[in-house]
Amino acid sequence: MMKVLRVPPMYKCIGLCDADLLDNGTRHPNLVLLKIAGYLFDNHILFELILDSKADVSRYDHIFLSRVFTFTKLPEFYVKVIGTADEAKFHVGGTGFYANKSSIAEYRRKREEDMYQLENDEYLNTLKNYHGGKEYGICMARQMPYYHLYDVFIDQQVAKGFKRDKYKDYLKYSIGFLTRGCTRHCPFCVNKLENRVCRYSKLEWFLDNERDEKGKLVRPYIYLWDDNFLAADSSLWKPLLQELIDSKRPFQFRQGLDERMLAQSPDGELMAEMLAKSKYHGDFIFAFDNWKDRELIEQALKIWKRYNPKKGTKFYLFCGFKLKEHSHQRFYQDIWELFQRIKVLMSYGCVGYVMRHEDYRKYEISNLYIQIARWCNQQQFYKKMSFWEFAYRNQSYWEEHTLHNTDRPQLKTYEEFEEDYKKGYYGESEGQVKMCLPLQTVVRTLEKFSEHKEELLEMFNYKMANLVNPKLWE
Ligand code: SF4
Repeated sequence: MMKVLRVPPMYKCIGLCDADLLDNGTRHPNLVLLKIAGYLFDNHILFELILDSKADVSRYDHIFLSRVFTFTKLPEFYVKVIGTADEAKFHVGGTGFYANKSSIAEYRRKREEDMYQLENDEYLNTLKNYHGGKEYGICMARQMPYYHLYDVFIDQQVAKGFKRDKYKDYLKYSIGFLTRGCTRHCPFCVNKLENRVCRYSKLEWFLDNERDEKGKLVRPYIYLWDDNFLAADSSLWKPLLQELIDSKRPFQFRQGLDERMLAQSPDGELMAEMLAKSKYHGDFIFAFDNWKDRELIEQALKIWKRYNPKKGTKFYLFCGFKLKEHSHQRFYQDIWELFQRIKVLMSYGCVGYVMRHEDYRKYEISNLYIQIARWCNQQQFYKKMSFWEFAYRNQSYWEEHTLHNTDRPQLKTYEEFEEDYKKGYYGESEGQVKMCLPLQTVVRTLEKFSEHKEELLEMFNYKMANLVNPKLWE
């Protein structure tokens, strides 16, 4: 595939806008934009990724703007034209425009509209389709992504001093969905109204075969966005998994696999065996979103670990859903369930990855989620330290490196810390030592929930080395 250069400013072109990238930055390219770019590329139409939130919209005939997260701020150039004639240039969509709609009827309407709007788009329907399915108009499942769309952005970042490797998700993977849909109806998920897992793209429709001058594949890996691959009928997932294995390219399911299926499906053992034999890229990622699933998760873990005793296994841990500023009871329950899930994972030698729903920000001690994620999501901390040790080590590291207090121990138990605290070691006055935010947050949580102090401390002291128990699966 040829690379297009940046479109010179005197030419009009089509603008593609990844609103999430412009606001907070993301780790992944936006697949919808990659596919629109692919479609425009096929039709020899000039396009570019818009990288300035104050861009001059007069330069674009059409702008396709995608937003995945509801908390992403829309770019200034779009907000400014709302209600003016220029708004008609915009084709906007993505889960970020509706994922938090509380009315189910409205959610359903918006989702359906969003899922099909590009295939019904008046402008795109004037262009030829080169991938089958129909003569004119984009076919999202069949469209080959244009994998160079983000090159200009990456070059800019590299020029700013970031390492190119930081952007490997944009550079090294073929990306797509083999299946779409789910059957679980989790209330926090964009798939909550889906009832089935259906076939979506064929692997060959998004598998990139570009090679460099030495003949090596430019994108040697595959990542898949499938919502719930293992919940598909076995006549669907089995040949698809085999096809992935036969491609000989390392692959990974980015949204995590549904581990419960190993316990629930009659083919659970086969799933574990096939995945064990595959060239899986990185850690296997599953999801342990609800504490109520613990029995199923444990049953499945026993099967999984038998086939994959050594392979790194990570579980997404969803939390923070439906929190409000003062929903203390809900917050406590949520934190409790999060640590109980971590305890199960530690006992099976698995790692967690905290995924926070944006509602977590509303609770008054939302910072606790941030600190738990800082600990849990970095395996070097999670595997070696308890959460308490992590929080305390933040403090001792700062004292060591900023205050040059080298005579203090790197770690203390909570009880030892409490003694220092009572003696007035910490504080803002002269002669006192400032307490770092992670430790402040732990103290604030323990004070706020003083009736649960013992239980909280027990959870904050969960440590993988003490909990891991191979007898559970051997
Ligand atoms: S199992 Fe996963 S994909 Fe399915 S509804 Fe729940 S969170 Fe969404």
